[in-house]
Amino acid sequence: MTPVEKMLGMLTKVKGRNGSWTACCPAHADKGPSLAIRENDDGRVLVHCFAGCETLSVLQALGMSMTDLFPSDSKRREYPVEGKQSMKPAFYATDLMRIISFEALVVSICAYDMGQGKKLSDGDRERMKLSQQRIEEAIKYANV
Ligand SMILES: [Zn+2]
Repeated sequence: MTPVEKMLGMLTKVKGRNGSWTACCPAHADKGPSLAIRENDDGRVLVHCFAGCETLSVLQALGMSMTDLFPSDSKRREYPVEGKQSMKPAFYATDLMRIISFEALVVSICAYDMGQGKKLSDGDRERMKLSQQRIEEAIKYANV
């Protein structure tokens, strides 16, 4: 079993193909798919939670470790330090779209209510703030 197969087998709401997937993040209560998974040509798995979970927390929730992200023949390779250029996975635009589309829906529902002159509840306002953060994170990631 390859590292990505192992990981996908444990995740829910997995969507995608050609080495790129989205799924619900196991590290937080995730309704929309916030987790993007990418398999590199060398078999290495890149994971990113767009709700802001650390990669380590995601792995811990799955009972995996950083070394599980590498194919067994390259287990001795070191995981790149966070923040380095090589850490930036090139996720496909469709994955980013899938992640932000749910958040965009939340925002548009809130915007509709506000347009109707309705006052948002505190919960709705908090949720909208979260959506805004997630959309910004995705935009930052897409480098647009
Ligand atoms: Zn998460």
